[in-house]
Order: sequence, then C-alpha cells, then structure tokens
Amino acid sequence: EHEIVRVQLSERSYDIQIGSAILSSAPEFFAARTKISHAIVITDESVQPLYADSIVAACATAGMRTTLISVPAGETSKSIAMADRLWNESLAGGADRKSVVIAVGGGVIGDLAGFIAATFARGLAFFQVPTTLLAQVDSSVGGKVGINLPAAKNMVGAFWQPQGVLIDVDVLKTLPEREYRAGLAEVVKYGVILDADFFAYLEANVAAIRERDKNVLTRVIARCCQLKADVVQTDERETTGLRAVLNYGHTFCHAFEATCGYGELLHGEAVSIGMLCASRLAESLQRITSDVTERQFNLLTELGLPTATPQVDIEPVMAAMQRDKKVEHGKLQFVLPIRLGNVELVGGVSNDLAKTAIIDGQ
Ligand code: NAD
Ligand code: ZN
Repeated sequence: EHEIVRVQLSERSYDIQIGSAILSSAPEFFAARTKISHAIVITDESVQPLYADSIVAACATAGMRTTLISVPAGETSKSIAMADRLWNESLAGGADRKSVVIAVGGGVIGDLAGFIAATFARGLAFFQVPTTLLAQVDSSVGGKVGINLPAAKNMVGAFWQPQGVLIDVDVLKTLPEREYRAGLAEVVKYGVILDADFFAYLEANVAAIRERDKNVLTRVIARCCQLKADVVQTDERETTGLRAVLNYGHTFCHAFEATCGYGELLHGEAVSIGMLCASRLAESLQRITSDVTERQFNLLTELGLPTATPQVDIEPVMAAMQRDKKVEHGKLQFVLPIRLGNVELVGGVSNDLAKTAIIDGQ
C-alpha cells in the first residue's frame, strides 16, 4: 500500500512515493526514473547504519556502482567546508556528469546533498530518501537546496528539483520522540494554512499519530506533500509571493530561534509557539475568533508540542523580527489565518500588537 504525489513543474514532473516497507524497492524506484551507472549516496553518521548501508547494498546488488559518503549528523554539516569535502570525495569516487546523487537522511542531508547535486559537474540528477518527519513533509518538497554561511542560514544554494522522492514511513520508528513531535508542527501548519478538513483529520487521529501508525502516517505525509506541491507549482522559484503562506508562524519562530540560544528549541517547537503567536495576532486584528486559536492550541498540546512563549526578554525578539525578510518600510508583515484552512499575508502590522501577541503567550 503506497501513495504517489506527482509534482508538476513547468519543465518536468516527478513522483513522491509514500508508504510502508518500500525502502527495499529503492533501486527499482531510482532505475525506473534515471539510468544509473554510478550513485553517490550521501548520508549522516546516525542514519548510515540504520538505512543508508542497506540502500547501498541493494543498489550494488542491482548492479549499480556506488560511493557512500557519510558526514557528521547535525546542522554544522551544512557548510562550505563540507561541500568542498563532498565535491572532492565524489570526484575521488569516480563521479562524472552521469553520476546520480542520492540523499538519505533528514533535512540537513537533503539540503547538503541537493547542493552537491546542483553544483558538481554543473548539475547531477538527484533523488531524496528523507528520513525525518520534517524532511518528509517539508524539506524534500520544493527544490530548495543549500548550505549555511557562518552569519546566515541557507544563504548559498539553488533551486534543484529531484528525479524522485522515496518516503518510507517505517524509518520514523527510530526517530527520537522530540524530533518526531517537532515535525508534527509543520504537519499542523498545513492544516491551518490550506486544509480545514485535514486539520479535523489530525484532531480525530491524534492517538494513531502519536503511536506512529503506518497507515495514518502514509495518509498524513501524502496530504502534506500534495499541499506543499500545490503551492510550489504556483510559485516554483519564490517570485510571486504565493509560497509565503508556508511561512505561517515562521516570523515569530525565526525570532525565537535567534534569541533562545542554539539548541534550546527545535525548529518545529518554535513553529508551534510561533503559530499561536500569529493566531493571537490575527485575533487582535479581529480577523478570526478565539476558537481558531483554541483548536490549534489543543491539537498542538495533544501532539506534545510546546505552546507557551519562551521566557526571554522581549526586546531582542522584537529586534530579530525587524530583521525578518518580510519587513517592509520598517512595518512587520505576517501570514495570518482568516479561518481554519485559509491565510493571508498582512502588512503594516504595528510592533505593539506583535509584542502583545508574544507576551500573551508567556
Ligand atoms: P537533521 O537532518 O539534522 O535530522 C535530525 C536528526 O535526526 C539528526 O541527528 C539525524 O541524524 C537524525 N535522524 C534522521 N533520520 C533519522 C531516523 N530515521 N532515525 C533516527 N535518527 C534520525 O534535521 P531535520 O530536522 O530533518 O532538517 C533540518 C534542516 O532542514 C535544516 O537545515 C533546515 O534548514 C532544512 N530545511 C530545508 C527546507 C527546504 O525547503 N529545503 C525546508 C525546511 C527545513
Ligand atoms: Zn519550518
């Protein structure tokens, strides 16, 4: 049992296949989409023994020559130093213009391996095998790849679409509980911004989601991929502004991430708190009634996500928000709900209202 989401882009389309027990069919999935003589499999040191080794072995059995490259787990691997290492190890492994890059790991690996695919020999074909919930519902869809500069996240990169994405929900069994829950914040986000029925489905299936039920997860992840694909298709290169809806909760989120000290909050945890700030802000602007915030609060709480604003000084948070790329002429802009399943970009928001929305959550 699996589902397929087709991502239709102006130049070509590709499939995201989602299901249980489909990792073993990875070589067939790749071979059906690209002729592979040499595969560069990029992973991290935690994911390698869990999943990448077996994919490499299966590819070898299928007659593909493979080069496995494993980097330390964590955000610090998204660096120019690591890209330099991967370019050189790919070359030493015999890579050429016909080689194919396969990313096996979370969002860090997807972004880094995708960046190598986009740049090595002016661009190689690329597959994603995302292994965190965040990567399965967010970072593996949309074609953004890249690395960090010391002073700015995701500052160097490209739009580079994969040939296919293979999502096996079984890999989530080994994901640490906190990482799993953090990914659920982005899942809830899709319901709020685009699909009230999906939000209700999440509410009705909290227990199964917490137990990582494979059938429910297949449906949930497929729906998220479809919703993100629909947005990406209308704004492939983030030029029309339509992709902005995906940033619901993220202006607050980024400000908390920047001020709470590295590692204090996982991205998804900051998204959870940020969505509630945005929702309270929408209430204070009389765009929604309090029940819309309450339903998000209750669902996020039941899924085990934090909902309270962290106990930090407010001024550094406000300063971080002013540095957000959505600020226009010094006025804050936010993606705000108009009802469950629908959001709008709202400009000209006063600092005071934003501040109140943060403090009211403390
Ligand atoms: P990550 O890749 O660091 O993975 C989190 C941790 O989980 C790592 O330690 C990893 O080794 C471990 N792990 C991965 N899969 C596992 C599994 N199945 N079982 C056990 N452990 C496993 O982090 P992430 O949260 O997946 O991704 C975050 C990155 O994604 C950030 O760099 C962010 O910028 C990027 N991102 C990109 C996009 C995009 O559109 N390209 C969107 C959102 C986020
Ligand atoms: Zn996010």
